[in-house]
Amino acid sequence: MNEKHFETEAIRTQLERTQFTEHSVPLYLTSSFLFDDAEDMRASFAEEKERNIYSRFTNPNTSEFVDKMCKLEGAEAGYAFATGMAAVFSTFAALLNSGDHIVSARSVFGSTHTLFTKYLPKWNIETSYFKVNEVDSIERLIHPNTKILYAETPTNPAVDILDLEILGSIAKKHNLLLVIDNCFATPYLQNPIQFGADLVIHSATKLIDGQGRVLGGVTVGSEDLIREIYLFSRNTGPALSPFNAWVLSKSLETLAVRVDRHCENALKVAEFLEGHRKVNLVRYPFLKSHPQYEIAKKQMKLGGNVVAFEIKGGVEAGRKFLDAITMCSLSANLGDTRSIVTHPASTTHSKLSEEDRLEVGITDGLVRVSVGLEHVDDIIADLKQALQ
Ligand SMILES: *Cc1c(COP(=O)(O)O)cnc(C)c1O
Repeated sequence: MNEKHFETEAIRTQLERTQFTEHSVPLYLTSSFLFDDAEDMRASFAEEKERNIYSRFTNPNTSEFVDKMCKLEGAEAGYAFATGMAAVFSTFAALLNSGDHIVSARSVFGSTHTLFTKYLPKWNIETSYFKVNEVDSIERLIHPNTKILYAETPTNPAVDILDLEILGSIAKKHNLLLVIDNCFATPYLQNPIQFGADLVIHSATKLIDGQGRVLGGVTVGSEDLIREIYLFSRNTGPALSPFNAWVLSKSLETLAVRVDRHCENALKVAEFLEGHRKVNLVRYPFLKSHPQYEIAKKQMKLGGNVVAFEIKGGVEAGRKFLDAITMCSLSANLGDTRSIVTHPASTTHSKLSEEDRLEVGITDGLVRVSVGLEHVDDIIADLKQALQ
């Protein structure tokens, strides 16, 4: 994908130094940029030269972050957003017209699902869903007006895996844009463009920041599609702040080492849970018992940092488990250095009917652990005493 290795690109892709010969890239907190004269200003607005004009369009720090993400995902171009949801919304809004149709996996991030069901229909854009384990039903959902095939893998919170190669070939056969939310895997573990994705979206808020500090999002992909997304965003204003871009670009320097350790810890946590008598089922992509283990091995470098398991005793047991946790955080984020435990049935997904919950793999006793970077023995000890 690149001339240099992932870790090197993540560290050595950076802005040229200024006259101050700084080693670490400085922060460019400026809303606009100066022109030399009337001709420079005219040529800049006419896009005859590539340069910064206004930070709603581009800024050196956001450009550095985007360039790095492009190298790490093997993409031609990208645009950075204030949040992951701004990336998701702007991507759809820039590329779709009234009357267009989306085919999406049913298991998508909650706000993305709300976008599909509540907001895009306002502009006459409808979505049809397939279950993660029924990729063979996708072709039946495709209509002449279908434009985008959309999925996340691994999914949240049930950690299902979708076969990117199959999605890529369906998209190609039917001339659809394949858009993948790669947030759970990060570019270090999985590069959907290799499997035929046209666009890859990230919530940089998660493992890319990795330390629970800033929100951010990014979409990368082919030059022509990003051009549309850029023009839409330049005029509608979802841009990432230079400060957050600066934080996120620095975070990418350590992504590989952090994610390696996240995955090592997560596998140990998954193995511990698999042997526990109060646990019915453990979901982790790199456990042999995972139903899509072979697919995970094919498309991911490691299994990621999220482990889902079903505690015996349903909703009540799930709530009691959360109350008994002493070290891990009860919080809505994931991919943080700090391990985070959630119980979707009584919290994030409590408004869904039981039938809808089961459709996306959320049983009453399902617990999601975002395994952090504390010592793995301490993470396991906390889970163990809470299970007791
Ligand atoms: C968190 C998340 C988002 C939304 O990102 P924000 O930065 O919170 O807006 C989108 N997709 C997935 C898979 C996520 O986990």
